[in-house]
Amino acid sequence: MSDQPTEQPLPYGRQWVDDDDVAAVAEVVGSDWLTTGPAVEAFEEALAQFVGARYGVAVSSGTAALHAAMHAVGVGPGDEVIVPAMTFVGTANAIVFEGGRPVFADVTADDLLVDPASVEHRITARTKGIVAVDYAGQPCDYGSLEEIAARHGLPVIADGCHALGAELNGDPVGTLVALTAFSFHPVKHITTAEGGMVVTDDEEMAGRMRRFRNHGISRDFRERATEGSWEYEMVELGYNYRLSDVHCALGLSQLKKLPGWLERRRELARRYDEALAGVDGVEPLRTRPGVEHAYHLYVVRLDDPGRRQAVYEHMRGRGIGVNVHYLPVHLHEFHTRTFGTGPGLCPVAENAYERILSLPMFPAMADTAVDRVAEALEEALG
Ligand SMILES: *Cc1c(COP(=O)(O)O)cnc(C)c1O
Repeated sequence: MSDQPTEQPLPYGRQWVDDDDVAAVAEVVGSDWLTTGPAVEAFEEALAQFVGARYGVAVSSGTAALHAAMHAVGVGPGDEVIVPAMTFVGTANAIVFEGGRPVFADVTADDLLVDPASVEHRITARTKGIVAVDYAGQPCDYGSLEEIAARHGLPVIADGCHALGAELNGDPVGTLVALTAFSFHPVKHITTAEGGMVVTDDEEMAGRMRRFRNHGISRDFRERATEGSWEYEMVELGYNYRLSDVHCALGLSQLKKLPGWLERRRELARRYDEALAGVDGVEPLRTRPGVEHAYHLYVVRLDDPGRRQAVYEHMRGRGIGVNVHYLPVHLHEFHTRTFGTGPGLCPVAENAYERILSLPMFPAMADTAVDRVAEALEEALG
C-alpha cells in the first residue's frame, strides 16, 4: 500500500482501513447494540477528548452535524447566516434546511479562508450566526471572527470537516468556537464510512442536538430500556440523524491512528512544498503563522487560469486524481435560482476557483507518489 507503482491510479484522497478496524466492526456488529448503544458514547467521548472539547454528538454525516449545529443556535425561517463562498455545498445547505438564508462572504486570495472584513460587511439585523470553514485543514482567523461576532452578539460555528487535528496558536480545532462540526466521510482524516460529529463545551446545546438527531424525542431507546419505561415524548421536529454503533466502532478504531496520520499528511505537505518550490507557474496556498495545518487537502494555485483545464487533463491522463475544491457555492444552480446569487458576489473566491487544483493527499500515499505528482505538474506547465 505504501509503494505506489507509477502506472497505478492515484486518487486525491482515500481511506485507510486495516485488520484492526475490520475486527472492531465485526465485534460490534455481532453484539446486542447495533445502534444507540455503548459504542456511540465511547466514540463521542474519545473524539471530544481528542480535540479537547467536553461533549461530542455523533450524527449520520458531516452535513447532519452542520444541520444540528444550525438547529442548536436557533436558525429559523427568515434568518441569515454568513458562510464563506469557498466550501462544500453541505455547509450552506445546512442553513437552508432550517429555513435560513445563506449569505456568502468572500475569502482571502492566498489561503482561501473566510475574510473577516467581508463577514462584517455582510452582517444585517437578520444575521443569526457566522459559519467559518477551515479550508484545506487550516483554522480560520478565529480571533478576528470572534471579535466581530461578539460585537454583534452572534455565535460562530466552525465547519471543521477539513481540520480534525489542526491547531491555532496551540489550541485545537474543536475548542476555538462554541460549536465545531466534523465529517467522517472516507476522504476525511478518519472515517466511519458515513458519519459526523458536533463538539461543544455547552451541555445544553449538546442535549438539544442529541434530541434533534433522534426525531426530537426527549429520551432515546436505551434510556427508556434502562428505565423500564415505554413512554417518550416528541417535543420538537427532529430527524433520524443517528450514527450506528457499527459506524462508531470503526470511528473508535480509526481514531487510534489519527495522530500518526496527521504527522504523515504534514510530512507529505512538506515534501510537496519542496518539490514544487522549483516549478514555475504554480504556488501552494499560504499557511498562516501560528497554524498547525491538518492538510485534508493540498491545494495549489496556477498563475494562469487559462491553463487549468489542460493541466487537469494532463494529470488525469497520467492517472493522477487531481480535483477542484470548490466551485463557489453561490454559483451553483440551486443557489442562484433560490437566492438570486451569481457572479460578482464573491470575486476573490470566483477568481481562485479558476486556478486551483487539489493534489493527491492521504496518509497511505508514498513519498515517490509526491515526486510523481510534482513531475507531472512540471511537465504539464512546461
Ligand atoms: C465533507 C464536508 C462536509 C460534509 O460532510 P459529509 O459527511 O459528506 O456530509 C461539509 N463541509 C465540508 C467543508 C466538507 O469538506
